[in-house]
Amino acid sequence: MVVILKKNADAGKIRALLQQIDTLGVQTNYSEGTQTTVIGLIGDTSRVDMDTLLANEAVEDVKRITEPYKAANRRFHPEDTVVAVGDVRVGAGTFNVIAGPCSIESEEQLTTVARAVKESGAKLLRGGAFKPRTSPYSFQGLENEGLRLLLAAGKAVGLPVVTEIMGESQLDDFADVDVIQVGARNMQNFRLLKELGRCRKPILLKRGLSATIEEFLMSAEYIMAGGNPNVILCERGIRTFETMVRNNLDISAVPLLKRQSHLPVIVDPSHAAGMAWMVEPLSRAAIAAGADGLMIEVHNNPKAALCDGAQSLDPEEFGRLMASVTSRVAFEGRRM
Ligand code: PEP
Ligand code: MN
Repeated sequence: MVVILKKNADAGKIRALLQQIDTLGVQTNYSEGTQTTVIGLIGDTSRVDMDTLLANEAVEDVKRITEPYKAANRRFHPEDTVVAVGDVRVGAGTFNVIAGPCSIESEEQLTTVARAVKESGAKLLRGGAFKPRTSPYSFQGLENEGLRLLLAAGKAVGLPVVTEIMGESQLDDFADVDVIQVGARNMQNFRLLKELGRCRKPILLKRGLSATIEEFLMSAEYIMAGGNPNVILCERGIRTFETMVRNNLDISAVPLLKRQSHLPVIVDPSHAAGMAWMVEPLSRAAIAAGADGLMIEVHNNPKAALCDGAQSLDPEEFGRLMASVTSRVAFEGRRM
């Protein structure tokens, strides 16, 4: 981090600033030039608050040179992190597909979908029990009953389960869930992220609708700073000016996240596209861009789905998608 001082800054204020920086546990390098005087901050600056420094009257500007995230940063952890979920290893150079309905609607619906996705090669079963809907009048999910059905279906077909948490008060109810999903709308629910940092469960963190890559990684940092290294990042599309897709899949986020961070990155093409026909091309793009897996919405009868039917594949379409994904993964020289 570099602190640029104002021209003719008061010597007393500069001394006070240097003393203030000293208390932050970083070294300083004072460099007086003919035009500009700067103070270089050397060491771990992730805990240094730029705004506090900017508030000092002697300071003209403050610039970060290294990223504000440390635990999630590849710079300090060059090798890829592998998140273990039962026998599944996410991020180990293999490619894993998570599939299941947007929301759990009934035992019959869930077990039909669970069997079908397992049969086609999915490695984890997803299903929403608590749904973050834009309207309070839309189907909100079967809640605790949905959670019970998901755990039972996962056990019956032999797949670990992924489901979305709404708030930290639910953590005890999620004790048997294999992967806890943090939805796009909760990406900056910092109290929740902190609590998830206290457990050791794998967390599938979805990118917020308008979150920058840095904000996304700072949310992962919240979980990791609390002591939980098991974070899987999920790109699910962002809001742009385009109205012909539900969200714009930010494909560049995949190589960017993999360069900036050692965490595994998966892609959710279903929520990005909002249309079932686009799921396959976006899936292939995700593999080509280097993603570690996909999360796909599958429904036994998409037309009658209580949530996200338009973007859901039926079991047959999912089977075809898996064949296409498998050949693309092989083409990239990777394993499923
Ligand atoms: C979901 O996965 O069902 C979901 C609600 O996704 P997102 O948080 O990305 O909108
Ligand atoms: Mn959905």
